[in-house]
Parts: sequence; structure tokens; C-alpha cells
Amino acid sequence: MDYRSLESASTLSTRVALLRELRNLTLLDLAKRSRFPIQRIERIESGEETWLSVSDRQVLARALGVEPMVLKEVEFSPSDYPGVYESKLTPAAVDTDSMAEQILKGYTDINCPRCGTTLKTSIEFAYDMEGSPTKFARAYCPQCPFSLR
Ligand SMILES: [Zn+2]
Repeated sequence: MDYRSLESASTLSTRVALLRELRNLTLLDLAKRSRFPIQRIERIESGEETWLSVSDRQVLARALGVEPMVLKEVEFSPSDYPGVYESKLTPAAVDTDSMAEQILKGYTDINCPRCGTTLKTSIEFAYDMEGSPTKFARAYCPQCPFSLR
């Protein structure tokens, strides 16, 4: 691997895209390896998601064949720069994984990360990429545009 070009990829989006190309992986390949939805890989590579939770980072780094630090060092977390995201907290900046986990465990009193209203939650049954039955958490806010998809 060419680590010099890696240094020039100084954002999470460019670095993930570069590593994926160096590994000769398509978006779908990476989605399958990491078990992230392909839309999430697209959000990361387009720069909408600028940081990862510890567990997501481990999974994605493993799928890309690098140490988690290689991703962490170019992440941009709102907590590193208080105030930056104050006025535009996006759903991508919310830990949607743990929210989904709570919904699947049956919690219903989950507050909207944007406005604090209690979310409307539901569990949907569907098939994953391998064709196995699986459960998906759904949630939307009755007060603002936030939704968990
Ligand atoms: Zn809301």
C-alpha cells in the first residue's frame, strides 16, 4: 500500500475512499465486509459522516485492512470542536446504532436528538443482504424532520 498518498487523504471521506480503492473494493464489497448499509458507506465517503463510534471504527478499519487509528486520526468529531455543529446537528452526527439497539430491545421512551420530543418507534422485519430474516429499528420525530432509517 502507498502510505504517502494516504497522508494526503486528510479527511475521513477521502481516506475511506482511497483505502477502498487501494483494496480494489467496490462500495458494495465494503458494505458487505463491514455489514454497514451501502448508503452509510456513501454518506461516509461523501463527507456527511465525519466521525465513527469506537465499535463502528473497528469494524470499518478491519474491513479496509488498517488499524482503527488510521481512520481516527482524520475523523472530525463535533466534541473536538464545540460549537461547530451547534446550529446544524444532523442525524449523521447522532449515534444511530445505539439508538437502533435500544429500540430493538423494546425501549420506547427515546428522545429526539434534535428537539427532545419522544420519538415514534417501531420494529420492522425484513431480509438482510444474505437473505436471512432480520429486524430493523425505525423511528421518527413527530415534531421535526429527524428520522432513523
Ligand atoms: Zn425532533
